[in-house]
Amino acid sequence: PSPTYTSKGSKKDVLMGGLLVPGFDERTCVSRYNSALYRKNTARSPCRHLIKRLREQEALQRRCGPGTAAYRRAAERLESRRNGTGADKGCKYLVLVPYRGLGNRMLAMASAFLYAMLTGRALLVDRGESLADLFCEPFQGTSWLLPPEFPIKNLEGLTGEVPESYRNLVQNDRPAMSVSELPYVFVDLDHACTYHDKLFYCDDDRHFLHRVPWLLMRTDGYFPPALFLNPAYQDELDRLFPRKDSVFYLLAHYLLHPTNKVWGLITRFYDSYLKDSDERLGIQVRVFDGDSPFKHILDQITACTSQERLLPEVLEQEPSSFPAPAAAAAAGALSKAVLMTGLNSWYYENIRARYWQSATATGEVVRVHQPSHEEHQLSGNTTHDMKAMAEMYLLSMTDAIVTSGWSTFGYVGHGLGGLSPWVMFKPENLTTPDPPCRRATSMEPCLHGPPFYDCRVKRGADTGKLVPHVRHCEDMSWGLKLV
Ligand code: GDP
Repeated sequence: PSPTYTSKGSKKDVLMGGLLVPGFDERTCVSRYNSALYRKNTARSPCRHLIKRLREQEALQRRCGPGTAAYRRAAERLESRRNGTGADKGCKYLVLVPYRGLGNRMLAMASAFLYAMLTGRALLVDRGESLADLFCEPFQGTSWLLPPEFPIKNLEGLTGEVPESYRNLVQNDRPAMSVSELPYVFVDLDHACTYHDKLFYCDDDRHFLHRVPWLLMRTDGYFPPALFLNPAYQDELDRLFPRKDSVFYLLAHYLLHPTNKVWGLITRFYDSYLKDSDERLGIQVRVFDGDSPFKHILDQITACTSQERLLPEVLEQEPSSFPAPAAAAAAGALSKAVLMTGLNSWYYENIRARYWQSATATGEVVRVHQPSHEEHQLSGNTTHDMKAMAEMYLLSMTDAIVTSGWSTFGYVGHGLGGLSPWVMFKPENLTTPDPPCRRATSMEPCLHGPPFYDCRVKRGADTGKLVPHVRHCEDMSWGLKLV
């Protein structure tokens, strides 16, 4: 269907420079080919090598995915707990168990997909309660959802403690031998996983993990920064991503397409409240100290937006003249839509009241909107998750964005938007941080549980100093992000 035309008749590349393939039934997943129409421009385009590797991965997913003879055989061997060395060369699997909030799960899916592509595995995702209602199928002619009859049950209960864990293999120092005896290997990449779990980030798949047909993985975060530190993947990653600052942007736009139900939430809100403004500002408020409102966080939001000139100041007194509506528009007064997101509506009500009760110093019109206030996190509940997803997407459709440090919800919002956010630092001791926020160096998410180990020299190291494009995060001093 490429290219599609916007209402103004301008040409838009809905396939994002070859990132997406044409030929899907558009009606079953309208967002896939329509989301580009809602963005001013494409922040980054995929390079040719990435496009080629994506097409190869799609072929692999079709060849090995659920319903194929290869999948059936591999699942049978897993069920009978026989190892699969030798048979079905070419079909190996990565089963991802994403967990925690939806932001965490989306980062996990993008990360696991990259690892699957690097190691020639078909990616299958444990759907949990809500994933199938949130995301369209990313691959044509097959499914990325793990079939319900998958032989290993209670995937959410797997931890690094299980005998099949990567942690166990390396702790017992007999990986090469053990792998051939195991029906699967489980990798625990929880943000709080151990030193031995994290040695996975230094693993050269070619040495032994490639022999295990089933790799099961759980993660709640974004681990590509660690892959960029592994000498085994550096050359290929350089070819896939000549620019390192947009890895999540490209992976997420390739993989994570909202279902029609979620797309309805997104587009109805956008068309009603955001579309007609001259500028759009997103403010994502995530509070880790509890669900009740905090004055120091409201102060942080106003200090940040004022200091960074993201929102206009307000006048203390009413102006003496009020321009007639038509004159204001003719004089070029800008209108700014502010999209606020948060579990609580108190911050939004305060910011909105500020611009109702006082005129702006610049004459700008400021409209403030918040789609929902769910009060409490209820991850796994489908309707709740749909709203969360819609709001992350809406944040990504703004022109500038302020996010809360440490929040994966915020990372997805700015990462999908191709926007380097102004990050509000996480408050300590219920006090507004000074400075309240800082512009991030890139649009990439932060890895919260990074390795502290240099794969090359095999000893501890400051991993934020090993290569120029992997740095510590603005919001978490020990975290790692691509820049
Ligand atoms: P994180 O905890 O900030 O890293 O982000 P996650 O998305 O992983 O988990 C937080 C979860 O709480 C979200 O997925 C939602 O379920 C809920 N939540 C937090 N903030 C918001 C918000 O602004 N809007 C909505 N609708 N839900 C939110």
